[in-house]
Amino acid sequence: MGAKRPDNTSKKVFQMNTIKTFRTAAVVSLLTVSAAVDALTINFDYSYDTAGFFNDPTRKNLLQTAGNYFGNLITDNLTAINSAGVNSFNAVFSNPADGSTATIENFSVAADTLTIFAGGRALSGSTLGIGGPGGFSVSGTSQFVNNAVSRGQTGDTQGATATDIAPWGGSIVFNSGANWYFDSNPATTEPFSGNDFFSVALHELGHVFGLGTSDSWSNLIDANGNFTGSASMQAYGGAVPLSGTGHWASSVNGLVNGQSQQAAMSPSIVTGTRKVFTNIDVAGLQDVGWQVSAVPVPAAVWLFGSGIIALFGAARRKAA
Ligand SMILES: [Zn+2]
Repeated sequence: MGAKRPDNTSKKVFQMNTIKTFRTAAVVSLLTVSAAVDALTINFDYSYDTAGFFNDPTRKNLLQTAGNYFGNLITDNLTAINSAGVNSFNAVFSNPADGSTATIENFSVAADTLTIFAGGRALSGSTLGIGGPGGFSVSGTSQFVNNAVSRGQTGDTQGATATDIAPWGGSIVFNSGANWYFDSNPATTEPFSGNDFFSVALHELGHVFGLGTSDSWSNLIDANGNFTGSASMQAYGGAVPLSGTGHWASSVNGLVNGQSQQAAMSPSIVTGTRKVFTNIDVAGLQDVGWQVSAVPVPAAVWLFGSGIIALFGAARRKAA
């Protein structure tokens, strides 16, 4: 590169992880004056939704409701990233419009906020959605770079020593050709047919929050391909079997309000059913480095439907 950086600058590049999912056949707490537990703000950005999948406000509201589940659950404090002058943070993510790699230079994100680019397009086969955290490159003062990597979290967030996670956000895309059920009120339960958008949104957001997609997740997979995070093992009663490296195995059930439900982060969903986050899914969030509040339940769980089991989606890693 042509421009010379000041002596105390550094540059780092981190990969973007994307998980393809859900096919269907049918602390360091931030040292501020406030020690209060604040919710995270999940900011959805639709500027890459060129197909207009989210033009209907019902769909946006439903996605925001799913995002707010994580925002209310997670109690970590994330520092802001403010690009300015020599300090430059470039956000890299899978463009919801076409799957290409998009880069926004001199990106900033407020404290306790994640920005998630959302959209819809035709996805191949029976894939319902794709989601993952963003990658980034960063240059500037050491302080700026270190903050951008950690966002104030205690543990390492990158590489083989990662035990924590601090994404700026990421991207999610939904299959515009699927037979979606858009629930106008996911807090109530009623029979429906088709693919439950709310369930898939929770699942894809789980990937944005590092389930199956983060180094702190990968570092907890043992030689047998099972997940050994302590919270997950406690919830499951042992090492948790995985499907590939990015999902719980389909056999993994968790609890929602004392009722058994197939885990939300298993690779598939039955049409006509809703899956919310179970205790196993929440434990996974803890194991990748999030602090969580007493577990809220996004909606009552019920299980019915055609019994059509979906195919497994494959995890995919992309270099940023
Ligand atoms: Zn998935």
